[in-house]
Order: sequence, then C-alpha cells, then structure tokens
Amino acid sequence: MRLILLGPPGAGKGTQAQRLISKYRIVQLSTGDMLRAAVAAGTPVGLQAKAIMDRGELVPDAVVVAIIADRIDQPDAKNGFVLDGFPRTVAQAEALDRLLAERSLRLDAVIELAVDEGILLKRIEKRVADMTARGEKVRSDDNPDVLKGRLAAYRALTAPLSYYYASKGIHRGVDGMAPIDEVTAAIDRLLAATKAAKAKRGKVSPKARSKARSKARSKARPKPRAKAASRRAGSRPRKASKNKGGMRKSGTRRRLTKAR
Ligand code: ADP
Repeated sequence: MRLILLGPPGAGKGTQAQRLISKYRIVQLSTGDMLRAAVAAGTPVGLQAKAIMDRGELVPDAVVVAIIADRIDQPDAKNGFVLDGFPRTVAQAEALDRLLAERSLRLDAVIELAVDEGILLKRIEKRVADMTARGEKVRSDDNPDVLKGRLAAYRALTAPLSYYYASKGIHRGVDGMAPIDEVTAAIDRLLAATKAAKAKRGKVSPKARSKARSKARSKARPKPRAKAASRRAGSRPRKASKNKGGMRKSGTRRRLTKAR
C-alpha cells in the first residue's frame, strides 16, 4: 500500500499515519520528522533547513525530494509507505511521480483530511499544551505566528495538489473535523474500496481488458444495416465486382492474391 496524506498543519495527518502503518505494515515517511532529525543532528541539510522551518516556510524542493528518494529505497519501505508532509508542491509531486515510475511503483490513494482552518489554531494550541504536560520539547514552529505562515504556504503551494491528484483519479477526501476514530474508519472504508477495485482490475488480464474495451466501443457504434448485411454474406463493396477481369487497382491487390 502506497499512500499520501494531504492536509494543512494540524489536520491530523500524523495521528492517522500512525494507525495506517500498524494496520497495513507500512512505514510512515514524514519529511517534517526527517528534517527535524536532521536539524537535531546538525547535518548540512539540517543546518540549511532550520531557519526556513522556524519561519514556517518551505525547504527547497530539491532537498526534500533527495531525502524521499533515498528513503523509499530502504528495505523497510518495500511493503509500502504513507507519505506525511510530502509532496508539498506540484514540483515535488512531479518529482515523486518520476521516482515511482523509475521503480515501477504506483500510488494507491491520496487521502486529503479536510479541515476548518479556524479550528487548526486551537488544535495546535492543544498539541503544545499536551506536549508541555508530558514534558516533551515543543516544536519551535508550533506557535500562532509561525502557524499563519505555514497555513499560507499550504494554501498557496500545497492545496493545488488536490486537483493534481484528482486529475489522476486517485484523490479521496475525508472529513478531518470528525472525531479521530471516525476519521480512521472513513479512511479504512475508502482504502477497502480502493483495494477491492484493484483486485477486480487484477483479475482481468490486460489483453482481455483491451478486447472488452474495443468490443464495447464497436457496440456503441452501430453499423449501417446494408453494410453489415453485405459483410455477413462475405461480399465486398462495388470495386470487387468491377475487377472481375483481373485489371486490378492497387487497393485490391492483396485480396486477389489471396484468392489465388
Ligand atoms: P506541519 O505540522 O505543518 O504539517 P511538518 O512537520 O510536516 O509540518 O513540517 C514542518 C516544516 O518542515 C514545514 O513547515 C517546512 O518548513 C518543512 N517541511 C516539511 N516537509 C516539507 C516538504 N515536503 N517541502 C518543504 N518543506 C517541508
């Protein structure tokens, strides 16, 4: 199973990703987590990303694409993955398409958690309060000012991905405002439907599928009666009878050769 979770900051992508990885035995690939790890480790990528992340802006596409390219080749991602926070721009989505095509892999679904922006700020405040209560370190970009920037970046650069994936027929929307378990149940239902449709497609061989398609096409285009009748009788239209004497036109050559 290869999935993308789309949605603005605070939409619940991380929570749902955690549930998906245990259910489908896949890995969660969160570019936010990977970048935060790079920042904590003080790697060159981390040093480059820190200031950008603290401002709530997006790290350059090339940086995150390289991180993901490396990550999906790891053995633990062979069984599938759920991308959380990536892609975030159309350029990243196109790069992902290329990465997957090179590996003959396909996405199963892109699930968008639709949320009311007004609620997001409250959710982030709660996340900060919960983390503080647990004694965990709060993210430096989890504050109202930076959140506004993150939302603006989402609206301008990431929201267009809904259309990008809708045009590929793999975009699915879920109400992210519902209680957590209901969101999970909705995702389960749509993934079950996606799996069933995939299994159905898999049962029919590509050859049989194209045969059925051309049959359906010819059925949809009824032949004029006279023409159909002459074809049934095995006769050919006009030209054939005119050429009885053997003076043939170039178009009739093959037929006459065959008859001999
Ligand atoms: P959020 O909780 O806002 O969805 P994430 O944890 O996914 O945030 O990411 C935190 C920050 O890391 C982003 O604001 C951005 O600066 C950077 N980042 C994460 N993923 C990407 C990406 N795919 N492209 C560019 N920047 C990214």
